[in-house]
Amino acid sequence: MAKIILNKAQVSQLVWDNRYPVKEEEKFISRCIDGRYEKNSKLKSQMSKLENNYFLPALAIPGADLGELALILACANNFGFEIDHEKVFQSLIKVIGGLKNFSYHTDSHHGGLALGCGHFGQILKDFIAYNLQKKDVNFLEKKLKFLEKQGVLPVVLQGEHNEGAVLLIKGNWAVYPRYYLATDEGKKLIEVFVYHQSLADERRKILSKRLIDDGAVILYPGCEVDYLYQVMSNEAENHFFETLNRLAKDLPIYSVVFDDEGRFDIKKR
Ligand SMILES: [Zn+2]
Ligand SMILES: [Zn+2]
Repeated sequence: MAKIILNKAQVSQLVWDNRYPVKEEEKFISRCIDGRYEKNSKLKSQMSKLENNYFLPALAIPGADLGELALILACANNFGFEIDHEKVFQSLIKVIGGLKNFSYHTDSHHGGLALGCGHFGQILKDFIAYNLQKKDVNFLEKKLKFLEKQGVLPVVLQGEHNEGAVLLIKGNWAVYPRYYLATDEGKKLIEVFVYHQSLADERRKILSKRLIDDGAVILYPGCEVDYLYQVMSNEAENHFFETLNRLAKDLPIYSVVFDDEGRFDIKKR
């Protein structure tokens, strides 16, 4: 099946039907930018307090929490400050509300713990492009094994990639990435990559403070929380576009800005 590259009208239709409000108590639980999550993707038992509550996290970032962990390690390499890998992991766990909330994924045909995550797959293939070192990759893989041992398992996404656009979202609404679009040849499955910019920013602000308070990151004198937040935002953009350039080069990017009532404005970037 040929992939449909989505125009603005098609994206509007998807967003209109697939938008849902962000729940305050779940807003720091993440998912990946991957377009294959279903409305009711069973997030297994890792969401302890959310067990039997099938919801899709609104906060979509590359690689989910695994990608965020990689991001912090990359910041240290790229901006030349010191970190304690283990403390970084613990700080992230605190911010997400416990180990059981650690979100990562694979897919049904790649298997493994996170091999089906396109973002993580690219990191493994070319970690230098992501400002990571071999020891960082080893650390990430060690943590995956640890999570598995603790019963914190990956979400297993099903099917092929059908993403036809990239959405950058701002506001207190989120978007399910899979949709059946009515076309002349009947309904067709379409998907979008989703990055939830404003929720990602919000969590990174809290994470920067946590990392400093926990001594997970040792900055140069004079560099404070704002600096770390800025650095993380820059590196996050690097990581996101590195992966887009590899996996979504031909796709249009749309920014989607929601107001509180769920009305939205879409612009092609
Ligand atoms: Zn795959
Ligand atoms: Zn992924």
